[in-house]
Amino acid sequence: MTPVLEAEGLGRRYGRQWALRDCTLALPGGQVIGLVGPNGAGKTTLLSLAVGLLRPTEGEVRVLGRRPRSPGTVAEVGFVAQDKPLYRNLTVAETLRMGAWLNPGWDAPGARDRITRIGLPMDQKVGKLSGGQRSQLALTVALSKRPKLLLLDEPVADLDPIARRDFLRTLMSEVAESGVTVVLSSHLLADVEKTCEFLVLLATSHVQLADDTETLLSQHRMVTGPRADA
Ligand code: ATP
Repeated sequence: MTPVLEAEGLGRRYGRQWALRDCTLALPGGQVIGLVGPNGAGKTTLLSLAVGLLRPTEGEVRVLGRRPRSPGTVAEVGFVAQDKPLYRNLTVAETLRMGAWLNPGWDAPGARDRITRIGLPMDQKVGKLSGGQRSQLALTVALSKRPKLLLLDEPVADLDPIARRDFLRTLMSEVAESGVTVVLSSHLLADVEKTCEFLVLLATSHVQLADDTETLLSQHRMVTGPRADA
């Protein structure tokens, strides 16, 4: 089966500084994949390269077997940026209507069902929603485009523990229902270790892959050296 996301010697530089370097990986489909790494490790850079928002300085990236030359090149790939860009002055209902208008094949009944299930008020302005509610709305909008691959950049970073739990639960049930492959980035292993079936650790200039946290952590120690308390 073609990996959903492949990188070969992928690198991106800003001026003289490498944001991502020597990144080689092949991610399997049909799973929730955790992309973990400390702040500044290059998670956003990798996801932005994958959706064609950035061009590589070196190497190559492919999503669903194709090279993303610009955003939207690979239509079946969804992306939710870290700042969850939504229009603050629109209501929840207007946000969904705009999504349906902009995207052919938009799953309008599915979007309404999801919003009802999570209890979001349809007539509330986006600017008045809590961080957790905004994350849920951004997830609904992204899922309603029926992507095969959904890339979420730090979706729970600024949420309290209950909103984090709720978001991850919604995500899990959506994945089970639709079969979408999700790549979820986080700087906290705790966010992803229970949710994700496959983990990628991005430490500066290194990529490690694992199916379980224990393996990943042992590799992490190899990459970063012994822990201070070891
Ligand atoms: P965070 O969890 O803090 O979002 P991250 O793992 O997503 O971090 P990136 O945002 O990809 O990391 O950044 C990787 C490195 O590249 C960092 O050192 C960052 O300062 C640098 N960088 C990112 N974007 C730019 C830019 N536009 N110009 C210059 N340097 C940048």
